[in-house]
Amino acid sequence: IEKGTGWNISDSLKELAQLAETAGAQVVDIISQRRERPDAAFFIGRGKVHEINLLRQSKDINLIIFDDELSPAQQRNLEQALGIKVLDRTALILDIFAQRARTREGKLQVELAQLRYNLPRLGGQGLVLSRLGGGIGTRGPGETKLEVDKRRIRERIADIEAEIEQIKKHRNLHRERRQNANLPTLALVGYTNAGKSTLLNTLTNAGVLAEDKLFATLDPTTRRFKLPNGQEALLTDTVGFIQKLPHQLIAAFRATLEEVVHADLLLHIVDASYPRYEEQMGSVFEVLRELQADTKDIITVFNKIDKIENPNIIARLVREPDSVAISALTGLGIDSLLEQVQNKLRNITTDVCLVIPYSET
Ligand code: GDP
Repeated sequence: IEKGTGWNISDSLKELAQLAETAGAQVVDIISQRRERPDAAFFIGRGKVHEINLLRQSKDINLIIFDDELSPAQQRNLEQALGIKVLDRTALILDIFAQRARTREGKLQVELAQLRYNLPRLGGQGLVLSRLGGGIGTRGPGETKLEVDKRRIRERIADIEAEIEQIKKHRNLHRERRQNANLPTLALVGYTNAGKSTLLNTLTNAGVLAEDKLFATLDPTTRRFKLPNGQEALLTDTVGFIQKLPHQLIAAFRATLEEVVHADLLLHIVDASYPRYEEQMGSVFEVLRELQADTKDIITVFNKIDKIENPNIIARLVREPDSVAISALTGLGIDSLLEQVQNKLRNITTDVCLVIPYSET
């Protein structure tokens, strides 16, 4: 179902297939349906449910992933009708983040998002009444299993929130220390796979994992690097943005994304060789708006120009203000990127530095 985002169904589905493969699934078929509005009970029409059922049997399919968020009832009804696991884009993205979180905080934040997503989806198969009251203090008298499960999840959510709060305090301390060191900070933002890790590597030789899979970057990495004029700066890589990024995740990663909010300058990396890069840019701006970081100083870095054959296209790209065309892979254009960064930082530092004349008399 198309929404007014500029993304068309086939691009969005192609991306969903790429995400599914990133998560380790093997994509057998991609199906779409055009409808006025989603079916309340099944999201898709009954005829389509039947069609998928036949396909499932003939092709030995054991998982179906929907590109839009399903209501808990729709997900249950579909699982019952099809007899196999049904996921939506949100659950898939949460799964990928769960697989790839590296730091303690990243892992906690993904778990938090998953718990919040799962809570209303609990207990679809009819209530299981449990009045055994076995474990001391584990369940109250007459509580249903569902209520116990929900209570446990809420308790776990509260525990995680408390732990994240602690980690956050630590990070704020670190940030303060960094700010005391008086180094300007740059944050790399951009759609997932745009080339952020590659650029971070090129700029800092940091050896940060870069791979051609969605979501190679989950937790922020900060590296110190030197500009040609000798000035040092800190460069932070952030989580890859993506269209329809589950709101649970934006909330969960808000703390991590604070690096973006506190940065002096944002480098927005765009994969200019991707035909629909403008839509990807739109998705990035949406997230920046949510973080209230869309009014920060931004340099748009059009990346992967080694893949663009027509020089007119590149010339058009750099006509935009505050933009530069580079190849993070070959190093093309890195010099002009660094020059622009230096200029921007010079303006920013003069904005915030107060020079107080001092005389001995
Ligand atoms: P991230 O998700 O934004 O961190 O993207 P990565 O840095 O992991 O890059 C995603 C893929 O694009 C990798 O396969 C990179 O090798 C490739 N890539 C990155 N920059 C360039 C570039 O300038 N040119 C080309 N041809 N490929 C690039």
